[in-house]
Amino acid sequence: MIVSLKADANPAEVLRALVSRGLWVTQVEKSASGEPRHYVIASYSAATSVEDLASIDGVSGVTTSKVEHPRVSAQGPTVDVSGVVVGGVKPAFMVGPCSVESEAHVREIAERIAPLGVAFLRGGAYKPRTSPYAFQGHGEPALGWLKRAAEATGMKVVTEALSEADVPAVAELADLVQIGSRNMQNYALLKAVGRSGRPVLLKRGMSATMDEWLHSGEYLLAGGARGVIFCERGIRSFDDATRNLLDLGAVALLAHVHKLPVIVDPSHGAGRRDLIVPLGRAALAAGAAGLMIETHADPPTALSDGPQAIPLAEITAVLRELRAAIPRPTSNGGAS
Ligand code: PEP
Ligand code: MN
Repeated sequence: MIVSLKADANPAEVLRALVSRGLWVTQVEKSASGEPRHYVIASYSAATSVEDLASIDGVSGVTTSKVEHPRVSAQGPTVDVSGVVVGGVKPAFMVGPCSVESEAHVREIAERIAPLGVAFLRGGAYKPRTSPYAFQGHGEPALGWLKRAAEATGMKVVTEALSEADVPAVAELADLVQIGSRNMQNYALLKAVGRSGRPVLLKRGMSATMDEWLHSGEYLLAGGARGVIFCERGIRSFDDATRNLLDLGAVALLAHVHKLPVIVDPSHGAGRRDLIVPLGRAALAAGAAGLMIETHADPPTALSDGPQAIPLAEITAVLRELRAAIPRPTSNGGAS
């Protein structure tokens, strides 16, 4: 519900009046100068009527809206990440190792993929691992290795903030802050990442519904994120033939119905490298704004996710095959 204020209203008094009626006032919108703008967003309560609220001194109007994700709905299909438009005509490729293993390791990968037109270098410095005894990432030093490799080769950085404590360091170095699948509903983290103001790559929780995913995007935008790009990476299913079940229906829904940018990660979706090309091609056909793909110079020795990594020696051929599947834009933007 949006309560609009008159230009000469006292916002604090209007807020008090709303709160005294049992409403949960979620936000006072601020302008760039910090001055309150002339509306607030409040929860809806059946105990109050629109007429009652409209009679509060200083209120100029009350709009009840059925849009549950107002900011996500208003965002649009593109997000600008440090000058690279994601969701435009050109699909964005986000390629790199699962974990940043050393400075030389990530540099070798960056030098190989940058000439292939890859816009984003991916790589985890902070790793969410199922076992606490598995490699947890090199942390802050790895952020520096990743950033230097990206800068030296003209790419942007996408990397995960695993906890609130990581946000300042990650937000300083990453062009695009990744929220991992396991954290999609970590609302304290979403708020902290939102406050950083960075654009965010929001991975889908492995059992998250579309509504939950969109609401998490809403948390980020309400917190101050400069755009949210959704990332489908597979959901849990009854079948363990593949690591996850890549939900291309959700991709088509986001891209063509919600008109939002969605990246597909077939590496985590399938968990095996031989399915990256067919799933990546299908994702592009379904409306993906780009692909996230893991690669490694020597997958058998990778510290994480070796079985799904494309050997670096094969990445040129893989990207060529994927690019051949990019749908040609149609007059209605690709939707059919
Ligand atoms: C990753 O991309 O490094 C990752 C851990 O992915 P997810 O959160 O989708 O498992
Ligand atoms: Mn991985």
